[in-house]
Amino acid sequence: MKSPFNLEQQNNSIESKIVVALERISEAFRVLLWNESKENSLSPIQIQVLIFLRFHSEEKCKVSYLADEFNMTKATISDSVRVLLKKELIQKFDNPNDTRSYLIGLTEQGKLLAEKSSNFTFNIEKPLNSLPEQQKKEILTGLLKVIYQLNQSGIITIQRMCFTCSYYQNENNEHYCKLMRTKLTQKELRVDCPEHELKI
Ligand code: SF4
Repeated sequence: MKSPFNLEQQNNSIESKIVVALERISEAFRVLLWNESKENSLSPIQIQVLIFLRFHSEEKCKVSYLADEFNMTKATISDSVRVLLKKELIQKFDNPNDTRSYLIGLTEQGKLLAEKSSNFTFNIEKPLNSLPEQQKKEILTGLLKVIYQLNQSGIITIQRMCFTCSYYQNENNEHYCKLMRTKLTQKELRVDCPEHELKI
């Protein structure tokens, strides 16, 4: 198989063009996250941890879960946690379900910073707003399928999306959530659902 970066291959293959386009978009994420980190004298992963803590439930806010979420080692996440504690952006709590680990929460200062920083993707969302509704739905469904396959092949770990959820059903190409007992339209499919239960 030829590389999608080989221009001869790329210009004759829509899949290769999509791969290279995704790579360009991931570069935009990297640059925007880097700018946000620099502005706050933090590293990109420290900003990502703050944003994650702001929008996810307590039981997910611990070192082991964060390590899986960001595909990093526990030692790397622990280093970030140490810096964020020192800067008084987060605090530690006892974990009532496991005395060997602790939970992490944001301080008031951390919450403000996480909320501000969570808008770092604004410039990526802006061009999407101008696309027709049907095109946005197609992009969302296509990306969810790609993420699902990457998860199945072990390249990315934790996913809280409909396609990996035990409450999700697909009948005759219709999406259904057994928890909410409702059909899901294309645009209602979730990428990160708080009620997600991993299908085993
Ligand atoms: S619980 Fe959430 S992730 Fe699961 S099927 Fe329903 S909407 Fe999708």
